Amino acid sequence: MKVNDFRKNAHDVVNWMADYLETVEEQRVRAQVEPGSISARLPLEAPQNGEDFDDIFGDFRDLIVPGMTHWQHPSFFAYFNANSSPPSVLAEMLTATLGAQCMSWETSPAATELEQRVMEWLRKMVGLPDGFVGSIQDSASTATFEALIVARERATGFAIADQGLSDHPSPMAYCSEEAHSSVEKAVRLLGWGRANLRKIQVDENFAMDTHALERAILEDRGAGRPPACVVATLGTTGVGGIDSIRKIGQVTQRHGVWLHVDAAWAGSALVLPEFRHMIDGIDAVDSLVLNPHKWLFTNFDCTVLFVRDVESFLRVFSLTPEYLRTRRDAQVTNYRDWGIQLGRRFRALKLWFVLRSYGTVGLQRMLREHIRLATELAAKISAVEDFELVVPPSISLFCFRYARRGCSTEEIDDLNERLLQAVNDSGRLYVTHTHVKGRFVIRFVVGQTYTEQKHVDRAWRTLCDTARSL
Ligand code: PLP
Repeated sequence: MKVNDFRKNAHDVVNWMADYLETVEEQRVRAQVEPGSISARLPLEAPQNGEDFDDIFGDFRDLIVPGMTHWQHPSFFAYFNANSSPPSVLAEMLTATLGAQCMSWETSPAATELEQRVMEWLRKMVGLPDGFVGSIQDSASTATFEALIVARERATGFAIADQGLSDHPSPMAYCSEEAHSSVEKAVRLLGWGRANLRKIQVDENFAMDTHALERAILEDRGAGRPPACVVATLGTTGVGGIDSIRKIGQVTQRHGVWLHVDAAWAGSALVLPEFRHMIDGIDAVDSLVLNPHKWLFTNFDCTVLFVRDVESFLRVFSLTPEYLRTRRDAQVTNYRDWGIQLGRRFRALKLWFVLRSYGTVGLQRMLREHIRLATELAAKISAVEDFELVVPPSISLFCFRYARRGCSTEEIDDLNERLLQAVNDSGRLYVTHTHVKGRFVIRFVVGQTYTEQKHVDRAWRTLCDTARSL
């Protein structure tokens, strides 16, 4: 494609993008296609000769878009959002155009220096104290994996990275039974094995039971298994449980154990001073991850990992073969030394565009509106006879179920599974589920950029009408 053709095609694409955002509400939220139906329409072989852009773009519109789930639909209340915003999309276009690989300061000084500045802005915006330093990673799963690697090295005197696990007892990790699966995945990948992750029971508010945590640490230490890391969660994925950083921090400090905080979703709410109580006790925290790609209007992927002891990260991740050495290495930050990835996208640009476009006040306004919408709907649900609010709002997530009078617990589980299926099949909204104390519940999360009162009202009407017609 010649640059002149690129110019014309890019205008067509941008027009389509603006139309899409204007009309996304007309789409059915969750893709309504059967497995294999998209691939059945794709040629088995790549083309021998180049094709016309109009044909490619036409297939994108006709074949790909109908097979997409629309995460930017205002009636997306499923999982946790991966919300984006127009300034973020524009920055992504520029990032793609520059096509820079920002592994070292020299390979794009502006990318490194912007990341440093934006990390500092965000640190202050979310109320983390001086001493925390951030970097952008691809996902919370990667960031937690990285934190666990460094925790392991610190617990074993930085021996395992050199000598491997064979001469060392496997270090132990701890999280609550409500923690995200990325913690277990990290422990499996680290070679510690699932058996060396202790899933600690939660209390009635779905927060980690810190007495049980301390008992587990003492037991492991007594048996010669070195406790390496506790992963606390702010905003568990199922029900939004908030672990007490202060109480867990007292335990980790007593036993010299690394404390990593997974605030992948709820971390965005730290932009609101009224939610800073979640980081009460932050002085005991070694690392904290939050995802602007979930609830800070920044396109996936953009995870931020804040750490206190950068030196330990550098000691573990820095590896400079001759072909990567640059003459400024001693003077500059090379973000490739802060984590697993060597090559890095220019992700700071989109966060910079977002933070500047909305400002702290604008972001606070949007988050507070989401929280208000969730809180009001939860109150409405708890006031209705045949519905039950099972878990009250944690920030902007709550869980409920349809509880038709006279039905057994099993029948209610079945009704709710059918309700979930029916509303998602209708394409009018998208919700997902979890289990609470063994019972099937529907999760409802408000966090999409374009969600307004009318979308929440419509979702509630659809849920009521569908449930009562089952
Ligand atoms: N931690 C929590 C609490 C989550 O809810 C999620 C995903 O929803 C993750 C971690 C994993 O996030 P990512 O997709 O960025 O790896």
